[in-house]
Amino acid sequence: MASTENETETVCRVCGFDGEVFWEGGWPNEAAICPCCGNEPDVGDASVMGLRNYRGYWVGHGAPWDSPSAERKHKRQDWDLLKQMENIPPQWR
Ligand SMILES: [Zn+2]
Repeated sequence: MASTENETETVCRVCGFDGEVFWEGGWPNEAAICPCCGNEPDVGDASVMGLRNYRGYWVGHGAPWDSPSAERKHKRQDWDLLKQMENIPPQWR
């Protein structure tokens, strides 16, 4: 875990969306919410099993964006869920 201590994470650990500060210095940014999967970073996300549960639940419901306004604002025309998921760091897959 020491290697992440000074890192800023802008990629959602659940869905791979890149564009918000989700983690900073090893701590979750509680003000952040992923516009794509709706995950709010919290210490529970430090477990890859918890992330897989949330991700499985989200994808199982059709991978809906968090809200229509978030979708309009952040979803690109060529958005591809599987491509986005390639952003997920290997340790959180
Ligand atoms: Zn997400």
